[in-house]
Amino acid sequence: MAQLPNVAVSRRGAARLRAGHLWVYRSDLLPPAETPAGALVQVRDERGRKLGSALSSSASQIAIRLLSSGEVTEQALPELLRDRILAAIEFRRQRVRDSDSYRVVFSEGDLLPGLIVDKYNDVLTVQALTQAFDRADRRELVLDLLAEQFPDASIVERIDPHIRELEQLPPRESQILRMPRPDRSSGLENRDRSNTRFTLNGVRFHFDALAGQKTGAFLDQRENYAAAAAYARGRALDCFTYQGGFALHLARVCDAVTGVDSSRPALEVAEQNEQLNRDQHRCGEIEWIEANVFDLLRDYAAAGQEYDTIVLDPPAFAKSKRALPAALGGYKELNLRALKMLRRGGILVTCSCSFHVGEREFLEMLISAAADAGRRVRILEKRRAAIDHPVLLNVPETAYLKCVVGQALE
Ligand code: SAH
Repeated sequence: MAQLPNVAVSRRGAARLRAGHLWVYRSDLLPPAETPAGALVQVRDERGRKLGSALSSSASQIAIRLLSSGEVTEQALPELLRDRILAAIEFRRQRVRDSDSYRVVFSEGDLLPGLIVDKYNDVLTVQALTQAFDRADRRELVLDLLAEQFPDASIVERIDPHIRELEQLPPRESQILRMPRPDRSSGLENRDRSNTRFTLNGVRFHFDALAGQKTGAFLDQRENYAAAAAYARGRALDCFTYQGGFALHLARVCDAVTGVDSSRPALEVAEQNEQLNRDQHRCGEIEWIEANVFDLLRDYAAAGQEYDTIVLDPPAFAKSKRALPAALGGYKELNLRALKMLRRGGILVTCSCSFHVGEREFLEMLISAAADAGRRVRILEKRRAAIDHPVLLNVPETAYLKCVVGQALE
């Protein structure tokens, strides 16, 4: 049996793996801190003891991602990957309700570090985030298995040019890689197979896997949309609405809904999504506003606007640890202004998808925003990403999304 390349990690790297994390940073490798491109490697500590088998990158700062604490051979690897993908699919089939769309494979959360698969009704998107999953044989394995498990779906590879650059992979375009079985797609042959409609909690959305840089719903908010709709009422404001995820859910229960985003293309899709759901809306037309949320909240607060429900779902403000103080300042400003504008008994749904802002920091920020706004706020729910984005306790990076539902009592 061919020997796997050995990679030796420092004491700190070994401690991290023994605590259950899957990553070793390049700075935690013993010299020569070099790792083969996309290979299966044997990980050892500084005394040569085996720590497990991992996939390596020659370029990324995350030099290796552990697959197993045991020994995995090249011969056994395809079966291990297949088993884990099947387990991921089975988990969603058991756990996801009221939706034809969900994350099928969530990288570390499914012990498949570097692989992400999303399902939008009959379109699957695959993202190979590492050299290891970009290798032709592994791509084929993943695609064949997905095609077998989802015979009615087309499969599109989604390319993030920035990630390919970091992994020093040659540029590639997003494209359709598999079509549904012909006998299954009756009447749909002429349809653009990267394009579909999908449903979350009964709310319909357009999806185009090949459109623009960033499309697709934020599937991680699926359960939080439903939670928001369960409490929302009256006059509602959805800040950072993107393609209308929260706003469309609020429209079914609120009297008036406004969605705000700085991206015009996103709002155009939001408006098209609104058309798909009009028959279910309690409110009149949704008001879509193209604006910077910070400016809008300041102006609306100054003008004495009041709301019964406000959603805050900003992009990740803290992209690194260093950016944390500024990010917390941003979150606080938003939450402070929103709390000031809520009527008595009003509902705040506030989110952060920055991994670097932990749940505790997020709550401390909220406490301080409530104090400065002079509001007493009851916490109704502390939430996280939907169950199809499973959190691996040992890899805190998988627990990036926080969502608090609060009520401004007075
Ligand atoms: N709530 C959305 C996801 C929001 S993603 C959903 O559930 O689908 C973050 C959004 O914030 C993006 O659409 C981006 O265009 C928008 N955005 C970023 N900075 C902004 C700003 N300062 N003002 C308004 N929108 C902003």
